[in-house]
Parts: sequence; C-alpha cells; structure tokens
Amino acid sequence: MQDKKKAKERIEELRRLINDHNYRYYVLARPGISDYDYDMLLEELISLESKFPEFTDRNSPSQRVGGQITKKFPAVRHRYPMYSLANTYSKEEVLEFDRRIRKDTENSFEYVCELKYDGVAISLTYENGELTRAVTRGDGLQGDEITNNIKTIPSIPLKLMNEPPAEIEVRGEIYMPHGSFMKLNEEKEKNGEAPFANPRNAAAGSLKLQDSSVVAKRRLECFIYGLAGDNLPSGNHWGSIQALIRWGFRVSGDVRKCTGIDEVFPFIEEYEKKRGGLPFDIDGVVVKVNAYSQQEKLGYTSKFPRWAIAYKYKAERANTRLLDVSFQVGRTGAVTPVAVLEPVLLAGSTVKRASLYNADKIEELGLYYNDMVFVEKGGDIIPKIVGVDTEKRDHSARKVVFTKSCPECGTELVREAGGSVHYCPDSMNCPMQIRGRVEHFISRRAMNIESLGQGKTELLITKGVINNIADLYRLGYKDLIGLEKEFSDTQTGKKRKISFREKTVKNILEAIEGSKKVPFERVLYSLGIRHLGETMAKKLAQHFGDIDSIRQAGLDDLVAVNEVGEKMAYSIITYFKTPGNAEIIKRLREAGLNFRISDKDTAVGSALKGKSIVVSGVFEKYSRDGIKELIEKHGGVVKGSISSKTDYLVAGEKMGPEKRKKAKDLNVPVISEKQLENMLTEG
Ligand code: NAD
Repeated sequence: MQDKKKAKERIEELRRLINDHNYRYYVLARPGISDYDYDMLLEELISLESKFPEFTDRNSPSQRVGGQITKKFPAVRHRYPMYSLANTYSKEEVLEFDRRIRKDTENSFEYVCELKYDGVAISLTYENGELTRAVTRGDGLQGDEITNNIKTIPSIPLKLMNEPPAEIEVRGEIYMPHGSFMKLNEEKEKNGEAPFANPRNAAAGSLKLQDSSVVAKRRLECFIYGLAGDNLPSGNHWGSIQALIRWGFRVSGDVRKCTGIDEVFPFIEEYEKKRGGLPFDIDGVVVKVNAYSQQEKLGYTSKFPRWAIAYKYKAERANTRLLDVSFQVGRTGAVTPVAVLEPVLLAGSTVKRASLYNADKIEELGLYYNDMVFVEKGGDIIPKIVGVDTEKRDHSARKVVFTKSCPECGTELVREAGGSVHYCPDSMNCPMQIRGRVEHFISRRAMNIESLGQGKTELLITKGVINNIADLYRLGYKDLIGLEKEFSDTQTGKKRKISFREKTVKNILEAIEGSKKVPFERVLYSLGIRHLGETMAKKLAQHFGDIDSIRQAGLDDLVAVNEVGEKMAYSIITYFKTPGNAEIIKRLREAGLNFRISDKDTAVGSALKGKSIVVSGVFEKYSRDGIKELIEKHGGVVKGSISSKTDYLVAGEKMGPEKRKKAKDLNVPVISEKQLENMLTEG
C-alpha cells in the first residue's frame, strides 16, 4: 500500500518534471537538463507505469510525442503522423530489439543504419514537383507551418528533378552545422545576447523566427531521410533513399544496408569514433527495418514505430578539478563566469575552461573551489560542467559565489530584470566596456575603421588618448604619431611592439574620415546598444528613419516593429536614458556621421511618406508583419498605439472594439487592407 502511494507520487512528480522539460526543450529551445538525464527520468517513468498499470494515463509524457505547436504559425494536421523513435543507450537493448525483429520476420529481413542527426524534424510536401508546405513535427499529429522559413534553406530543393510523383511527403532533419553555430554565437555574444547552448537549440530557435530573412542568415542545412505515405516508389526504405537522391534531395552518404545485427554494431562503433570529426552534431544511430511490408506488420505504438530503434551515444564526459572561476566582462557589460579547470582530454581535445553561463547555473551546481567536476561537451562543442563529485569535496574549501562587483572597475553589478544575466552598470567608465565598445565600433561590419585594430585601440585607451567612440573623431596627426607600446601576446606569450608610424597614422585618419559616409543603419549598429544586432538595427533605421525618432519612441512604438521584443525595447530605452550617451551622439553628429536614413535607402515608394499608421487585427492577404513591412516600404511609420497624431488605423478581422472606439474618438480614419493597397497604387 505504502509502495503504491509512493509510486503514485513519484509518477506524478516525474510527469510534471518531464512536461516541464519538454516545454523548455521544444518550445523555448532552452533545455534545463542534459538529454541523458532527461532520458533517465523518462525511463524511470515508463518503468513505474508498467509496474503500476492502474496509474496509466494517455496524457502521460510517456505516451505522447514531446513537442507542441507554438501558436506563432498556422497549425497544420499531418496527413501521416510524425513519430518519435524508441531510444536506448544500451547495446543489450539493441540486441533485445533485434531478437524481436528476428522473431516477427522469421529471420528474413534487412536493416538500414543511418546517423541520428541532432536537429529538428521536418515534413515537406511537394505537389507536381514543387515545394508547397513545410511543417514541424509539433506533437506528432499537428505541427507549425513554416514554409517561408524552410524555403530559405539552400539544401532544400524548391523544385524536384526526374519526374517525381504528383504528390509526395518527405521527412528530414534541419540542423545547424558547427561553423554556422560558432559564428551565430559569436555574434550573439558581441550583441550582449545569451548564446545558444548547442546547435540543436540554435536550429530550433531559428526556425521559430517570424522573419524569414533572418532565418536565411542562420545558414541551416537539411538531410532528408525518408518518405511518408501510401504511394511509395519502392518496396523498401533503401529503394526510397535512392529515389530521393534521384529527385534532387540532399541525402546523407553515411548510410549502410545490413543483413543482421552483426553488421549494425560495427556501424555504431565506426561513427562513435567519427562523430567528433563531422561538421554537424549526431546523437546516435538509427536502425530501421528495410522492407515496408515488414514495417507495416510490425506497426507503431502511440509514440514510436516498432520497426526502428535509435542507439544514442552518451555525451563524452571527463572528471577534473575546478581550479578557479574567472568573471569576464563583455562590451555590453554582461559578466560571464568561466570555470578554470585542470587540463583534461575530452572528445579529442584538451579542455581547460568551461562555460558556467550565469549565477543561477553556479547556484544549481552548488560548486565549491577545488571540487572534482564532471565536464561534458554540451551539444558536443562547448565544454560545460554537468555535475560535481561531492564525495571528493574538500570541506575546508569555499563555496563559489557570483561576484558582486565588476572584475574590471569594481562597480556593483545589477541583475537584468526578469533575466539571469548580471551587468556592470557603469558603461561610461568601465575600461573593459569602453574598449569593447570602441572595438565593436571600428569593426568591419560596423564603421569599418579596421586599420586601428584591437592592439592600437587598447594603446589609445590606456594612454588616455581616447575615452569613448566620439573621441576618435577629434584625433589628428599629432595625437597619434610616435605612440608606441610593448605588449605580450595573450595567445603566444611573445612580446609585440605596437607603434604608430607615418603610414599607419595616415591610414587610420583616412578610415576615420571615410566612416562618415557609413549609412545610418550601420551607425546605429555601431553604437553597441545591448541586444541590437545588425539586422535589427537595419529594421529600426528603416522604420523610424532617424535617431531622434528612435530616441523619442516609447515601449509600444518599439515593440510595434517586426521582431523587436520587450527586452530589446527596454535596452534601447535604457541606452538613450544613460547619461553620457546623448552627449556621445551629439558629438558624433557634429563630426558628420549619418543619423538619418538617406532617401535612396527608402524602398519602393513614398505614397505613405511621413504617415503614422497603426495596424491591428488579422488580415486576409498579408501577415501582420507583412503589412507592416508594406507600410514601411512606402515610407509610412508603424506605431504601436493610437494617438491624435495617428494618420490611419489599418483594421483587420478580430480587432478589439477599444481600438476602434479610440480611433473614432480621435477622428483617426479606419481603413481596410484593400484600401491601404489602393492608396499605394494611387500614390
Ligand atoms: P529523438 O530526437 O530521440 O528521436 C526522434 C527524432 O529523431 C525524429 O523526430 C527525427 O527528427 C530524428 N532523426 C534524426 N535522424 C533521423 C533518421 N536518420 N531517421 C529518422 N529520424 C531521425 O526523439 P524526440 O521525441 O524528438 O526527442 C526525445 C529526445 O529529446 C529525448 O530522448 C531527449 O534525449 C531529448 N529531450 C531532451 C530534453 C531535455 O530537457 N534535455 C527534453 C525533451 C527531449
């Protein structure tokens, strides 16, 4: 009785925990625990549920495919369900699977072994050889329709070759290659945003973006691994793979047909060794029964096909000592803790440092200095600490606590409201932030004054020649010529001399002068406003037209811009409120930098030039963002709320009655989507 009560409690707790982790993993794309720990929780739940069948519940996470639809995109029902895969970390369970298959097929079968790509599942429909729909797995029965985002992925054919059937549905995995992942995280860190923990999260997060032009920049890729439906081109999976290749799909060459389990294990072992060298993440190997007739006979559970199993590789782990924790300040003032470790070999490379993310993570791990810690390569690239061997703890050691003050300037740190990141608030005086900001400002994609590189910037700051980005514009020949300093290179430890000679000085001054031609959108990006990357700077510049309008914009106006969230909006408002920034902008303006968009940058028409427009409701022809873009392209400015200055309210279906009333009270004309279009063609 006692056992039963305990089991019930634990089952409920596990369901709660797993549902919560599913939400973090599938919806937020920010998992709270490792896949291995998640799989252990699920295994415990499945085992308890089978011991106590009286607590069976068809809504248990053990019975359902984990994901959800997001409500951001239209929900589409899958014609053929998208299942998950039964998975295991144990070779014994693969043998068990094989025993079952041999029995059910009377020993006459083949397997196909494939890599298990660690990305996001996708279903693509082609009609008459053209891509018509792309849908995520969602909960397996219905998913999000993200066709526009998917069309930006170059390895997905929009048109097929060699006479494909009139309608086909293919299944595959969207992933982010390591190179793209590293680049994206570098950019995120530069912009003061939290990096993605691994390429899978980065791929999942990218596919959820509303703006396809941003998705296009994420350099996603796709492998197609199967076909769904009744009218298949072959009687087996292997034959379908060949057909997919013929039609122009990107199918991985890392597949093998096996006649028995003895050939499966060498494949598993081979790729366990090779996985570190692959340019993308895999988390295991999928073993599938080849013949469709046998697949059909073996059937499905509510969650998995019975004809396939995924053998998952454990993330490689190492055990080493935590020597220290250092805190680093970035250009936006974000402080990140980094664990300094006794060097240890892990998945082919020596690990000396590991990310500790933020104060919450340190607290969650309960770290003490000198602890023996377990390190994993998270998503197999960035090493992270996943646990502590508390039995080996030296009890005289100190607990690791997040620093209270800035490691560079000593200012007391503040924690971002509702977030987990600590910042040094003294952005004007903190030397690390000044340096970071100047380095960002001069970088190629910003103001492109790269002839002044990092070393020279540091020299100018340490010698007090410049204190901020505006100081660059008062530099003259005499301020620079002859300056020099010896540095020891942080990478090689060798001494290096930096000096400002005649030619260098000329180049620098020319580049500074040339930067006055840089367009407003890049000037805005160069200011180094926290969370404001290149793409969003461009959007804001086009939306508001000049810096004063951005400075005066309220929260509502800012979030009305496509893809601007509250976090970014607050950061922009804070930037303009910070004493000192107004002065910097004033000086940069006096120096001749562009703080307004030039006429040639404004796009296709000017029918709405200078008009302030509010958009509300759901539209027939355009998405909400599409209509905003249309207005901006014709010179209009989209605002978040109605005021006496609003020129039009574009009303779609389901617009709230309050907005209509307010428009009426303030005499703001209410127009339809069609009327707006007419204005553009008339204008
Ligand atoms: P899964 O990722 O283990 O396996 C199913 C998926 O594998 C398919 O949907 C498909 O997208 C993919 N796949 C890759 N290569 C394939 C191939 N060659 N053939 C067929 N399919 C292929 O299952 P899932 O349901 O997407 O996710 C469950 C797993 O996700 C868990 O076992 C766990 O490891 C992880 N997870 C982790 C957390 C967490 O908090 N860390 C939370 C939820 C899920």
